[in-house]
Amino acid sequence: MLGVPAETIGDREFYPRVVLGEYFQSQLAALLAKAVARGHVVDVKGRHRVVDVKLCEQDIKVEVATLDGSTENHVFDHVVMATGHDWPEKTETKPGFFISPWPAANLDTIADVSVGVLGTSLSGIDAVVSVATSHGSFLLDDSGVMQYHTASETGFHITMMSRKGLLPEADFYCPIPYEPLAIFTAAAVDKIVENAPDRLLDEMFDLFRAQLLASDPGYAERIGLGMLTVETVADAYFAERGAYDPLTWAAMNLGEAKANKASRTTVAWRYAILSMHEVVLRAVPHFNDQDLKRFHNHFKTLFVDDYATVPHQSIERLLALHRAGRLSVLKLGSDYSLDNDTVATGAAVDIGNVRHTFAAFIDATGQQAISAWDVPFPSLIEQGAVRQARTAKASTAFGAMDDTAEIATGGIDLDSQFRPKFEKPISHNIYCVSIPFLLHKLPFVQGITSAEELGTLVASAILDDVEKRGFGINAVRTLASDPLWQ
Ligand SMILES: Cc1cc2nc3c(=O)[nH]c(=O)nc-3n(C[C@H](O)[C@H](O)[C@H](O)COP(=O)(O)OP(=O)(O)OC[C@H]3O[C@@H](n4cnc5c(N)ncnc54)[C@H](O)[C@@H]3O)c2cc1C
Repeated sequence: MLGVPAETIGDREFYPRVVLGEYFQSQLAALLAKAVARGHVVDVKGRHRVVDVKLCEQDIKVEVATLDGSTENHVFDHVVMATGHDWPEKTETKPGFFISPWPAANLDTIADVSVGVLGTSLSGIDAVVSVATSHGSFLLDDSGVMQYHTASETGFHITMMSRKGLLPEADFYCPIPYEPLAIFTAAAVDKIVENAPDRLLDEMFDLFRAQLLASDPGYAERIGLGMLTVETVADAYFAERGAYDPLTWAAMNLGEAKANKASRTTVAWRYAILSMHEVVLRAVPHFNDQDLKRFHNHFKTLFVDDYATVPHQSIERLLALHRAGRLSVLKLGSDYSLDNDTVATGAAVDIGNVRHTFAAFIDATGQQAISAWDVPFPSLIEQGAVRQARTAKASTAFGAMDDTAEIATGGIDLDSQFRPKFEKPISHNIYCVSIPFLLHKLPFVQGITSAEELGTLVASAILDDVEKRGFGINAVRTLASDPLWQ
């Protein structure tokens, strides 16, 4: 029914979102049926919005708004906050100005006009494809090349834009699970965390450099790796791509990715960076404030670029739109301004003295990391149950006192079981795995695999707690030994 032949299903393939949605929904239904069959009580309350969470001495009160506007109150022993990204329902905040590409149906009102899309990552591509498909169709021609067909007026044109003016690269072939790294290992990074907390980022960068040099000496030489620093490595990483027109590079890179996929060839430097990004995560929570800032501002970006490659079909669609004369990419640079006040619809972007005007404009930069004060449950804030994550201050030349000082830097301060840290005689059994609150200290914790890891961690923390507290021990044993809950 969804048009995916069984023989094309594989763990390296990409599927339309609607297919994934159907898959996850049926997985959930199967899981619930299995749970009920084993005697568990599971109550799924769809279309109910939690409006407040309050921690009491022994338990946790949850206030819920139902669809008919009434309120329900529930009490739980454990509560998991897994609220995901908070997408606004109303996205067209001014005529023709959209603060988010989702829900995509909102973009259907965009007419045959000049459309600006801020952000060139997968979210930007989503926005472009949503608008393009409401104005035309993507079809394969006789030679199997994706083409875009539209009857729209010639005024219909989309401009994607970002500071660097680069597009993401195509998903690249590599062995999964990752082969072990020889130098940039978890043990080596843990050792630096232990021995050189105040030089952690620079020491880790040395290790990164040694690994990349060993994995792909030719690439290391090409980007001048030996002379690079935390501050300069990203510029070197993006330099070659930046020297080309973005859509020309996209076509070349797609060709390379397709050929490598067919011949099962791995590009060593891409694979090394991809494997390293998981190990880097071990160190980030231990950075001092200066290193954390340097990491977020400079070093992080090349890891994000390397793992956030996109399905081949997404690049094919961008190229088809470009060939049809409907898409271009604009480099904003670091000195541009966005004006949605003085224009009748959409927005204008000023770069130096040049003004680019768009009758429709979509902000597709995605949701950023958010902080403890953005928690949508007022009681948690009033109770002082959430506070910003702490980071050690870099030591200064003036005194040892600063060595132990910490400052609040963002996100939510969580313990190793993802429970907010606070010192009050109220229940600590609230777990926060809402990704925007975690990104500050866990910058790569995105996607369904991360959601699964966080879910597993919190589920076992809850089971441990229940067992420790000795209530419902028989029921707990049933749950703990039940593969459904592991
Ligand atoms: C367009 C798009 C494409 C993506 N594609 C991929 C992909 O191909 N592969 C991949 O790995 N990841 C992908 N992701 C990322 C992936 O969707 C997320 O990482 C994942 O969904 C996070 O899971 P989550 O359970 O933390 O949050 P979510 O899936 O966002 O779930 C949070 C849920 O909580 C509900 N909720 C929020 N607040 C409340 C409240 N107050 N009361 C009650 N309910 C509430 C929300 O309605 C939502 O149902 C994509 C994301 C987007 C937006």
